[in-house]
Amino acid sequence: MIEAKTKNKNILHKDIVKVNEKKISCDGGTDFGHPIVFLNLGAEGKIICPYCSKKYVFLKK
Ligand SMILES: [Zn+2]
Repeated sequence: MIEAKTKNKNILHKDIVKVNEKKISCDGGTDFGHPIVFLNLGAEGKIICPYCSKKYVFLKK
């Protein structure tokens, strides 16, 4: 229920993004853009983008 706590979740630094692959790219989205970076979630299955602090979590299906 992240949406209930913030008016604009796009600029929330601790956004958590669930992904279903271990290699992802992040450009920060439209409001918080940064140069595109490729991130590897590695063995732990999670990584925090060094630019926008979004947290990516690998989610198995
Ligand atoms: Zn980012």
